[in-house]
Amino acid sequence: MTTLTFYGGANEIGGNKILLEDKDARIYLDFGQSFDFGEQYFHEYLQPRAAHGLEVFFEFGLMPPVPKLYSRSMLERTELKYAPTDIDGVLITHSHSDHVNHLPFLDESIPVHMGHGTHRILEAYHKLYPSLVNIGEHDQINHFKSGDSFSIKHLEVQPVHVEHSIPGAYGFIVHTSKGPLVYTGDLRLHGPKSSMTREFIEKAAACNPYALLCEGTRMSSESHHNYTEEEVEKKIDDIIQDSKGIVFCYFSMSNIDRFMSVYRATLKNGRKMVIDTKFAYILDELKDKIPDLPDVLTDSNLQIYFRLAKSGTYNEKDYAVYERKYFDKKITFDEVSKQQKDIVMHMGFNKLMELVYIQPKNADYIYSSSEHFLEGEENEAERTVLENWMKHFGVKFHKAHCSGHASREDLEHLIREINPEIVIPIHTQQAQEFKKIHSKVMIPEKGDTLKL
Ligand SMILES: [Zn+2]
Ligand SMILES: [Zn+2]
Repeated sequence: MTTLTFYGGANEIGGNKILLEDKDARIYLDFGQSFDFGEQYFHEYLQPRAAHGLEVFFEFGLMPPVPKLYSRSMLERTELKYAPTDIDGVLITHSHSDHVNHLPFLDESIPVHMGHGTHRILEAYHKLYPSLVNIGEHDQINHFKSGDSFSIKHLEVQPVHVEHSIPGAYGFIVHTSKGPLVYTGDLRLHGPKSSMTREFIEKAAACNPYALLCEGTRMSSESHHNYTEEEVEKKIDDIIQDSKGIVFCYFSMSNIDRFMSVYRATLKNGRKMVIDTKFAYILDELKDKIPDLPDVLTDSNLQIYFRLAKSGTYNEKDYAVYERKYFDKKITFDEVSKQQKDIVMHMGFNKLMELVYIQPKNADYIYSSSEHFLEGEENEAERTVLENWMKHFGVKFHKAHCSGHASREDLEHLIREINPEIVIPIHTQQAQEFKKIHSKVMIPEKGDTLKL
């Protein structure tokens, strides 16, 4: 028998954690955390700490008490007794938290399979934000690349690269006893590397799959213009061209496509790009994985912002060891302040304090990340603070962004091309919409087991 059990990713965007059981093989497809995980019980500084194991999460029913899954140390102080695991592997599509964040709970002996790029990104982020990004201890992390295939018991697994808003993302084709099962992970078709997603679609179609686990983040019935990364780059270019002062730009450091768009637009306008030491570290760590990336140590168009630290004298010893490597590319607030018209600077919410030192004149701020922050009620306080800073310094606010997820039209195309017998919508709040494009749709509920 072939079954799928949804511990996450059903009727929600994110939190993918899906158990596939086929004959005696049991594997998980991703092991992520829901975006609203724990928000009813934890707030700001009221958070479970590293010393806590699963007892806190079991208390509030936030994690299912599944036997033979979790590590011995995580189960201490809980009523669930540790037993050797019966899980044969975990397949990870990409490094976003909603796909990897529950890895620290796993029994260490379960083999975890992920792309080499995904592992590199997770390690780099762990070094910068150890309490925020942590995949825990695992006896075996097996790397794969597109075109590989490997076996977990009788299951043959084919990872195929896809384009998403983070590098190193994959979808999977798993050959089960019921037939091939295709799992999209998160993907899109409107960025510079859409050929990777096209290749995934082709390979998935070629195996005549039985089931398609399909992401549906943007499967809404209202259709909006599907902005492409190319259009975002053009918009950023236009804003920089029109700007008479410094241009600040915010986007996620892991969105390398966006970095490249901003970088190219910056150069086109004869400006330099300023990033902080954390961003420099991420780019540096990904350099050998992504050949188009500029080299932060030698590229004269990139300068690295060092904030004023303890001694107030820019003494190397004031900075973390990893930051010192970039000291030769250092730019200070003083220099930025004097060269405002020649600079595009990466600027996150938590770095706004630098504006007090830079004293921007005629500045522009481009918000180039998920609209979620600008719309969600829960972000209202933060948004008001951002608006106040913009007002105080007379900064003009702009938006330029496109999604990391395929549009409804692109999903329709993907489903049509792959042509599975059944479609199982995941990573979506609009599962019903899939019924308008496919005749056999199985909608999972959280905690449910679907028999294929
Ligand atoms: Zn996701
Ligand atoms: Zn994602």
